[in-house]
Amino acid sequence: MDYLPLFMQLRSQPVVVVGGGHIANRKVDLLRRSGARITVVSPELREELHKLASKGELRYVAERFSEAYIEGATLVIAATNDHDVNAAVSKAAQARKIPVNVVDNPALSTFIFPAIVDRSPIIVAVSSGGESPVLARRVREQIEALLPEKLGALARFMGARRKAVQQALGALARRPFWERIVSGVVGTRVLAGDETAAEKAFESELRTSHLTTSPMTGGSGLGEVYLIGAGPGDPDLLTLRALQLLQQADVVLYDRLVPDAVLDRSRRDAERIFVGKGGTAGPTGGPQGTPRASGERTMSAQTQAGDHTVQDRIHELLVHYARKGLRVARLKGGDPFVFGRGGEEIEVLTRHNIPYISVPGITAALGAASSAGIPLTHRRLAQSVTFVAGHVLEDDALDWRALASPRQTIVFYMGVSHLDHIVAKLRDAGAKAEHPAAIVERATLPEQRTLRGTLETIAEIARKASVTAPALLIVGDVTTFMATDAPLTGQQHGSISHGTLV
Ligand code: SAH
Repeated sequence: MDYLPLFMQLRSQPVVVVGGGHIANRKVDLLRRSGARITVVSPELREELHKLASKGELRYVAERFSEAYIEGATLVIAATNDHDVNAAVSKAAQARKIPVNVVDNPALSTFIFPAIVDRSPIIVAVSSGGESPVLARRVREQIEALLPEKLGALARFMGARRKAVQQALGALARRPFWERIVSGVVGTRVLAGDETAAEKAFESELRTSHLTTSPMTGGSGLGEVYLIGAGPGDPDLLTLRALQLLQQADVVLYDRLVPDAVLDRSRRDAERIFVGKGGTAGPTGGPQGTPRASGERTMSAQTQAGDHTVQDRIHELLVHYARKGLRVARLKGGDPFVFGRGGEEIEVLTRHNIPYISVPGITAALGAASSAGIPLTHRRLAQSVTFVAGHVLEDDALDWRALASPRQTIVFYMGVSHLDHIVAKLRDAGAKAEHPAAIVERATLPEQRTLRGTLETIAEIARKASVTAPALLIVGDVTTFMATDAPLTGQQHGSISHGTLV
């Protein structure tokens, strides 16, 4: 280790910054967050620093550097663009044993600034020992993405209750208690910004822990459910919250639309249970974790009755595992509340008094639009967009007239095996044969295909290409938009036509 990481208490401590330009300004910003008493020494000063000086937030010495200015300082920072001045500051500080940093010059510094993630009071500091600040910043970004935005709030929440817990619980019981707070209902509530619910759960956890005799196993063991939208398939399209919750869930119930690459983002030791149509585990000794069936089937091929049974089983499993005190992730393709039966699941959870958090996901239509380069709305081509469940039956309650009118986009989910029926309904309701349509199969996945045609041709095109679920039918003029262009999202699918990436 070339440098020892330390966290320094600087509140009200005298710190001298030599230099008044852009870099000095950045250091002043950082130092102000620590509550230091700042003096800036520089013949010239940036506008922002002037403002701070006039508000009394720093002391300004409008002079060239001389040694006397650092007398008694706790820290010294040299941030001028003059090497000789920086070297003189370093020498003067070192002679007085005052820690000194010369910005971007480890050789002249006795300490260096790390890249930081600030979720105060939680602070993560990353350093490459001056070897590669770019790499350190990259590591910082990765950590930044992993840590929930409200981590600081959680730390404060816990800090504020330390005394109460100390009084209520014996020494041995405290640690497991706090572990449960961090990774259980209380923690997830605070991180989701609901401190009122967190407070309630905390009280209940503390009450039960207090009553339990065994210090190690004490606790109410409140389980909870995370209803997580897994997005359309590409694991990079998971939300940060989805990722955070997946990494703490003990059990993951997933369905057919969730690819392995997404499932692999869950905790290594979490129990994974397949609850897709065509194979469901039962809570009482049934076949657990039925292996993934290979090959997709359309969901619409399910009978209503069969579908119900599967859904009931899922409800049973959610309740069963949460009651055992486990953290259960219910991982669903796309968004849980778009043709995802998330509504039914939260009804069940509410009825059983099981706390849950729902995390939105990128629904298939949005994923497909972006990765196929089809804007769902467009000032000229479509002023509205409608998502329709495409496994329509003869006696559906859809307003086909409204769906058949121009200047709008209709996205049919679960419609691939009903293409003829959907097209016939639209045509009967007045849509033109040449009205554009497209199919996006396995959107955002490596095997994504986009097929374009018209209402007249699209069903035949799909048959010839053997399109299978999951796929979306998009109807509207937007499907002709930039028809030959590559998607402009991070991941490229299919061929890139010339000139689109300039
Ligand atoms: N809750 C999901 C939808 C579930 S219904 C969501 O918000 O996306 C299942 C249907 O979603 C499939 O039949 C298909 O029409 C569509 N779908 C899901 N993932 C898809 C994908 N990667 N590409 C195309 N369509 C997809």
